[in-house]
Amino acid sequence: MHVMADLPTRVVPANTLRDFVAAIFRKAGCDAAEAGRIALQLLSANLTGHDSHGVIRVTRYIEDIRTGRTRVGQSVTVVCESPTHAVLDGNYGFGQSIGPQAVDIGIAKARAAGLAVVALRNSAHLGRIGDWGERAAAAGLVSIHFVNARASRLVAPFGGTARRFSTNPVCIGIPPLAGKPMLLLDMATSIVAEGKVFVASNGGKPLPAGALIGPDGKPSSDPVTLYGPLVPNGPRRSSEGKGALRAFGEHKGSGLAFMCEILAGALCGGGVSGPTTDPFANGMLSIYLDPERFGARDFAARTMDYVAYVKTSPTAEGVEEVLAPGEPEARNRATRLAQSVPLQVAVWANLCTAATELGVAIPPA
Ligand code: NAD
Repeated sequence: MHVMADLPTRVVPANTLRDFVAAIFRKAGCDAAEAGRIALQLLSANLTGHDSHGVIRVTRYIEDIRTGRTRVGQSVTVVCESPTHAVLDGNYGFGQSIGPQAVDIGIAKARAAGLAVVALRNSAHLGRIGDWGERAAAAGLVSIHFVNARASRLVAPFGGTARRFSTNPVCIGIPPLAGKPMLLLDMATSIVAEGKVFVASNGGKPLPAGALIGPDGKPSSDPVTLYGPLVPNGPRRSSEGKGALRAFGEHKGSGLAFMCEILAGALCGGGVSGPTTDPFANGMLSIYLDPERFGARDFAARTMDYVAYVKTSPTAEGVEEVLAPGEPEARNRATRLAQSVPLQVAVWANLCTAATELGVAIPPA
């Protein structure tokens, strides 16, 4: 393994981190509302334990503003719509601004018609997709999201070694059940999200065996396979590595990743992760369903009973408890809100460098 030794962490209270990140984006050119949204969503990823989609992204996002890949202050454009669907263009605006607008259009239509489909193209990074499932769930809706990332080929198809898909997350959110953690499946279709290779390359949690595949067709868990030689605290460019991420679940996960390209890329109109000169963009096909319009008045009670039943399963060797989707995130959020957010030293150092360059004061950590 070429990862650096496990590094100590800095611990930052959630509010301090949110305000610090918001101040950085304010100076980088966002208005106060957009800077606040970006900070809140990155913090949400850290709080739920998805550090790969948290404040580790700040330096990349700022580079994206500088290069024009992401545009500040954008709104969605409605390409076409009907009472039950909308096709939206995100105009390369921040996913933290475009995502909530797209979800809110889906919520409004599904409340009126019982269901709605929203096809979003050309959004900058939409971050943790679970946030969008949670937003719909808070409005009482079931939602299903298929996502792709054009110009971000990272994952080899089942049986292949060359990159053909992006990490293509799928998310399903269920409206909150009284007093229970929210049911939320939110997962990349690669064994790990690219950001987890990024975290591992900085000395964080090592990758599971075989998360990557080399050009020689051999499974690997070494971040070098994706990024090439690692410079301490240096940038990680997936274009430098010769290998690929692997899809989860062999041919089945690979098939799901394939279909995300078709649904979120081809159908939404932004494009698939094939060879392209177009810049990075997330596409997202979202389906919103109002459970009250399905004649299932006991939907919440049945769901709660079923969750409880599933959790009564005896555990496998070495496992303490059977968890429902979304439970690990809910537990992490409660812990990190109470105890502050642990950040790798390299992540904190990069945040401080970005802040200093932009003239933002660094809070104590
Ligand atoms: P993961 O592997 O940590 O978790 C996936 C899902 O499994 C979650 O719903 C979680 O609740 C559930 N889970 C985890 N442990 C469990 C357990 N022991 N029992 C039951 N359920 C359990 O997540 P991931 O695949 O690494 O994805 C990380 C994040 O990256 C997601 O938020 C995803 O939306 C995001 N992502 C975004 C993009 C993008 O282009 N915007 C691309 C890829 C991934």
